[in-house]
Amino acid sequence: MDTLFSYVTAVLMDDADTVLKDAFVLVSQGKIAMVSTARPEGFSGREIDGRGKVLMPGLVNAHTHVPMTLLRGWADGFDLHTWLHEHIFPAEARFDARSVRAGTALGLAEMIAAGVTSFSDMYFFCDEIVEETIAAGLSANITQGLTSFEADFSPETHPGFIKLRQLKERWHGAEGGRIRVDACIHGEYTSPPKLWAAAADYARANGLGMHVHLSETKEEHEGCLCRHGVTPARAFDRFGVWDVRAYAAHCVWITDEDIALLAERGVTAVHNPVSNLKLGSGIARLPAMLAGGMNVALGTDGVASNNSQDLFDEIKLAATLHKGVLNDPKPVTAGEALRMATRNGALAQGRNAGRIAPGCDADLILLDFARPHLTPCHNVLSNLVFSARGSDVVLNMSGGRIIYENGNFLTIDLERVLLEIREYALPRLRAQ
Ligand SMILES: [Zn+2]
Repeated sequence: MDTLFSYVTAVLMDDADTVLKDAFVLVSQGKIAMVSTARPEGFSGREIDGRGKVLMPGLVNAHTHVPMTLLRGWADGFDLHTWLHEHIFPAEARFDARSVRAGTALGLAEMIAAGVTSFSDMYFFCDEIVEETIAAGLSANITQGLTSFEADFSPETHPGFIKLRQLKERWHGAEGGRIRVDACIHGEYTSPPKLWAAAADYARANGLGMHVHLSETKEEHEGCLCRHGVTPARAFDRFGVWDVRAYAAHCVWITDEDIALLAERGVTAVHNPVSNLKLGSGIARLPAMLAGGMNVALGTDGVASNNSQDLFDEIKLAATLHKGVLNDPKPVTAGEALRMATRNGALAQGRNAGRIAPGCDADLILLDFARPHLTPCHNVLSNLVFSARGSDVVLNMSGGRIIYENGNFLTIDLERVLLEIREYALPRLRAQ
């Protein structure tokens, strides 16, 4: 059935930051069919009255580890290395497919209610993650991080490469392309050059993208200089990692030369300001990346280091943090912050989405602007960036299908998910 949003304030996310008042946005067969200030003739289908509401492209959470919702508040106050090795890895060792499935469903519910329509994930038990994502109706780029602590290995028999080939065969392109599988190197510090070359070869040969963690901490960045004599960005480049559509989470410690290299290679940086602040990893030089011509998207990172998946937190931080760091109120405009959360993320995922324009995927969210903290509205983009919260989302449409409306989940049985978390996933996690 076609859907028409009528008399809505539409934030198109085009280059001109256009906000169209009293707009009509027609959705047909999963795509945006028309955007106009005139009502389409002969419409039949569901009409949604958009008066007092703002319609914008759905948010793209471009770097997360969805099942880590199970570890919300598990270990606060540690640096990345201590946090991972002493707290997270031992907890994750107790996860099984069923608890990952439960954690995924919980994370998807949290993201859907906060306006996310697509996400890029890096985790394990990926079959369960994909199945829950399809059931929930979101789109996603699914990856499982490749690691090897042996310098030499065979991609034919390496469990990570076997899994990558299975995932690609089973899921890549599912749901009309809404599920994509990308290759993924977990990080420079958890794998040898042979793995980078093999992952790059596989991605290139199969038309997949590439997801990595890059220069998240100073120790990682400087350790690479000792190990390989070059920065992580340069080390990956030598082995063809950037030859495909690639997106690199964090980029906190990258150099000016790295920025020039990554911009030239078309690599997207995924900025995760909350996670980087919480783990004390540092503050990525977002204005320098933007000035250097890099595509920059936004991510929450896993809930264990955030501890939320409300991407509106990242939007506001992206637009405020760097002003404070540079003592300058100009860097990162509201429009830039919103583009990072929408179309820049869609570009990183290889999707025609993140804008309200004919032909784009109908990934759309509606926000109720008749709320005290959104009143008055002198500037829609300003209110979206500096005042809105995920809880202002009253409708989430992913791929033309309404999956959340007025507080109701239409694709997730939240009671069942919460019961499964309580009765299975948490007891298993807490068992000694
Ligand atoms: Zn991460």
